[in-house]
Amino acid sequence: MHLQGKTAIITGASRGIGEATARLFAEQGANVVLTARSSDAITTIVEELRAAGGKAIAVACDVSDYTQMAEVVTAATAEFGRLDILVNNAGVIEPISTIADSDPAAWAQAFGINSVGAYHAIRAVLPVMAKGGTIVNISSGAATSALEGWSHYCASKAAAKMLTACVQIEEGHRLTCIGLSPGTVATQMQREISASGINAVSQLDWEDHVPPQWPAAAIAWLCGPEGAQYAGEDVSLRDPAIRRRVGLID
Ligand code: NAP
Repeated sequence: MHLQGKTAIITGASRGIGEATARLFAEQGANVVLTARSSDAITTIVEELRAAGGKAIAVACDVSDYTQMAEVVTAATAEFGRLDILVNNAGVIEPISTIADSDPAAWAQAFGINSVGAYHAIRAVLPVMAKGGTIVNISSGAATSALEGWSHYCASKAAAKMLTACVQIEEGHRLTCIGLSPGTVATQMQREISASGINAVSQLDWEDHVPPQWPAAAIAWLCGPEGAQYAGEDVSLRDPAIRRRVGLID
């Protein structure tokens, strides 16, 4: 019930973990602001959520453009009058490539979406979260483990992990910032990883991945009273104790 009446911006909400989170938050009574570059996809999800009685709006944005991200925050407060939660989830894995073969512009673009994009969302929401709230940054095991072909991704997720700690140091007196490393999740991103054939993650069976509803449930849980104990840290959904506390396993 802790999400009832709260307003949440969810980046990368057009599919995968972000979509599952938006659906769960709406079910639990939150006002949900879905954003992603794919305007049609988030609009369709919002129509479904509203038809089911949920409160949701879609605002298309590329998180690598600060002006667009700031416009999402303006739209959120104009519609719902408050902002309590940011789920910083937008991210890309492509282009998967060794450093030697990488395209510098594409490497920088992916790094920018995953790291600078996360900063943009945080920077845009802080002025309107003056009364507190929760920021969940979607992290990855790649933030702390080097993987072949993923230098852009590993470096960007390491940067985002550090952002979580920095936000907590500067803003911990009024809000909680937590990282969630979701494990491997059955989404479009894992299809791209599998197709690449590079490194051990690409060799995993589809059944090895958890459904996107699992990280969605963990995000909702972290936005409740239990989240404060993990302030400034990355929480791993691979950890059976966390899965149990979220209620995903017995
Ligand atoms: P996904 O299905 O590929 O979804 C990625 C989402 O990010 C999409 O909604 C996409 O929407 C959005 N996005 C990408 N670039 C964007 C941009 N420039 N501006 C705005 N939105 C953008 O992947 P996912 O697995 O759900 O990933 C969600 C998060 O979890 C990512 O941060 C990812 O790194 C992290 N993660 C995933 C896994 C996994 O195994 N799947 C594991 C660890 C961490 P548009 O393309 O419409 O913009």
